[in-house]
Amino acid sequence: MGYHCPMVSVLTSRIREIRERIAAAAERARRDPAEVTLMAVTKTHGRDLALRAYEAGIRVFGENRTAEGAEKFHRVPEDLELHLIGHLQTNKAAAAAEAFSWVDSIDSFRVAAALDRRLAALGKKADILLQLNTSGEASKSGYRDFGALLEDLPGILALPRLRLRGLFTIGPLHGGAEAARGSFRTLRHRFAELKKLPGCGALDVLSMGMSSDFEIAVEEGATMVRLGSILFGERLP
Ligand SMILES: *Cc1c(COP(=O)(O)O)cnc(C)c1O
Repeated sequence: MGYHCPMVSVLTSRIREIRERIAAAAERARRDPAEVTLMAVTKTHGRDLALRAYEAGIRVFGENRTAEGAEKFHRVPEDLELHLIGHLQTNKAAAAAEAFSWVDSIDSFRVAAALDRRLAALGKKADILLQLNTSGEASKSGYRDFGALLEDLPGILALPRLRLRGLFTIGPLHGGAEAARGSFRTLRHRFAELKKLPGCGALDVLSMGMSSDFEIAVEEGATMVRLGSILFGERLP
């Protein structure tokens, strides 16, 4: 079976429908829908598809592998914002510093420091999110508990090439809507606690929610939802 890249017109109408669903969820929570950014997750899909999504109005993209993202998004328009949403290994920090303007999956001081060093060598800065595991599922990366995150926080805030913007989580695979809601609510509460700390008052990004649970995430305060399959169909093998 060949794979048919959806046309821009098809993507445009899917995106419109999804924005309507985001707006409805925001309104249920008495939030302003304009606070929610739609990130398109293009992992496993080709560059053509990513560029069509850009044409259809998407400006924020997520990739979970450093090399794949770097290759697919080589020489793209300046206003395209590429986020690394998969675990970063320190030996990939140089490639990540080069290709990504955001790293959303920081889960240790060690990896943050490696990224900072590589950014300095390139004369660049990057925005980052800290990933907290709020589902308790062992398969997920991210800080296991908030205490460990808080221990690393002063060191990370002191890294000159990184701008901490907020928190990131992946909802639970199991347990349905209620488990997802609990996990997102935990992240929102942690975010509120974090914002009271010195140097953290301006944090503005809460990245949570994927195709199966983004409306719940928006109801619980997400400012960024990460959507793959609902936009582009099933992932390619
Ligand atoms: C793949 C991926 C997504 C998108 O998942 P869908 O269920 O296809 O929307 C979101 N976040 C992360 C971290 C991912 O790896």
